[in-house]
Amino acid sequence: MTKPLLVILLLLPLSVRAADAQDQFVNLLDTITLVRSGVSLKSETSESHTVPDVDWTPPANVEWIQHDFNASGDRLCDAADGFCAGWLETASQECKDNFRFGDSEQDTQTRLEYESCVYEMVFRPYLSMTVDRKASKLTDSQKENAARLKALGWNQPSAQAVAFRVASDIPEPIVEASKEGMFAAIDLLGNYGPLRVYIVGNDLNEAEDLADDFCDFNYPPDQKEYCLTDQGEAIREMAYIYPGGNGFQQSSWTLDAPVQSFVHNPYADENNQHSTDKDELIRDRQVNAHEYFHVYQGAHNVYRGADDSAFGWATTRWVEEGSAVYFEQLISERSNWQTHSDISARVRNDLIAMKAFTTQFPGVSMRDVDTSEQTERLLSYCGELCIGQLQYEFGHIAFQYLAVKTSEDKVLFDYWDEYTELGWANAFVKVFDQSIEDFYTDFEAFLLLSVDEQLDVLGIDP
Ligand SMILES: [Zn+2]
Repeated sequence: MTKPLLVILLLLPLSVRAADAQDQFVNLLDTITLVRSGVSLKSETSESHTVPDVDWTPPANVEWIQHDFNASGDRLCDAADGFCAGWLETASQECKDNFRFGDSEQDTQTRLEYESCVYEMVFRPYLSMTVDRKASKLTDSQKENAARLKALGWNQPSAQAVAFRVASDIPEPIVEASKEGMFAAIDLLGNYGPLRVYIVGNDLNEAEDLADDFCDFNYPPDQKEYCLTDQGEAIREMAYIYPGGNGFQQSSWTLDAPVQSFVHNPYADENNQHSTDKDELIRDRQVNAHEYFHVYQGAHNVYRGADDSAFGWATTRWVEEGSAVYFEQLISERSNWQTHSDISARVRNDLIAMKAFTTQFPGVSMRDVDTSEQTERLLSYCGELCIGQLQYEFGHIAFQYLAVKTSEDKVLFDYWDEYTELGWANAFVKVFDQSIEDFYTDFEAFLLLSVDEQLDVLGIDP
C-alpha cells in the first residue's frame, strides 16, 4: 500500500532527568516511526569551519575502527585512511564485538541495537557539508496545500475543545496531571486543532481500543488498515513493551477535515507499573505541554508537501525540538510545577552534556541537520543518538540563548506567526534579525565558553 501522505509524524517527547535520558531516548527511537522520507546521498565538497584535525588530539590508546568513512569520495573526516571513529580504551568488549559501521541491512540493524556504543567511541572532527541556506521557491502544490489549510482554519485557534481518550488502567493522578499540562499549554498558546489526545496505559485490550479510535480519527477509511499496522502498532507496543515516558504527535493535514493528535504513554517501571510519584506527575505535565507545542507548530505550518531537497520549509530538527523543550521549561516554571532552581539545573545539565558531546563528536554542530541530506550524512557518521542531542540539548540551549538575546515573546509567538508565511528559515532571519549562518557562528562561540560563563550569558546563577 502506498505510504499515506497525510502523516507527518515526528516528535518525541522527553527531555528528562539527565540520568535516564539516554535510556528514554532509546525507547523512543525504537517506538516511533519517523515518517520523514528517505533521501539519497551524494558527494559534496566539505566546509572547513570545523576543528581542523591538526589541532585535535585523540585520547590515549584509541583503537581505530577499520571502516573507511570517506570511501564514497565525500570526506567526513580528515584522515588519510578514512578511519574516523575509534574505541576508547574503556570500551566494552560487547560493543567492540557487535557494533558495525556500514550500509548493509545487518550492519544497520545491529548498529541500532547497539547504538549507545557510540558513547564508548571517539570521533575525529567532522567535516560539515556545504549547504545553501536559501529558502526554495514555493511549488504550486505547496501553495495549494496552504490555501486549502488556511481556508479550513488550520492555522487559526479552534472553537473545538481538546478531547481526551484515556485508557481506564491509568491511575487518576496521572490523567489529571496530563490534562493539567495540556490545558496550561493551550491557555498560553491558544487552542489549535481539532485535537485529540490519547493516553495509553499498560493494558493491551485498552490500547487496542485507542489504536482503533486513533486510526479512525486520523486516516480515511481506506487507509485504516495501514494505520493499524503502523501507528496502531506503536500504540500497542507502548502498552506492552516499553517502560513508558514516550509518545508522538501527528498532524493529519491531508484529511478533508484535518485534525491533530497526540499519543502519550506515561512512565511505567520495569514491571510495567505506572507511578504516581511527584516527579513522574511533573514529567506528565511537561510532556503534555511539550507535545502541545508541537501541535502549535503543526498548526502554523501550512506550506506543506515541500520536496525533500527544498530548503526552509521542512523545519530543521533543532528548531522543532529545541523550541518545544524551551517551552516545556518555561511553562513548568510559570505554572509552578518546578522551581526556578529546578529549571536552572536542567540548563546546567544540558550545558555539561554539550561539553561532553563536543569532546566526543568534535566538529558536529546544529548546522549539520538543516536538510535531510545533511542529516542522512551525519547519521552515517555518529548515529541517531548524536543527532538526538543536537535536537534536544543543543536545541534547548539555542532557544534559551535566543530568548535572552531577543525576548520570550519572539521565541514563543512572533517567530511562529512569521513561520506560517515564511517557513522556518526566513522567519528566523526576520524575527531574530540575523542570518542563520551568523547565528551558528555566534552560538558556536558561545559554546566555547566555560559552563559558568555560559550560565552568566543566559542570566542564570551559577
Ligand atoms: Zn518533541
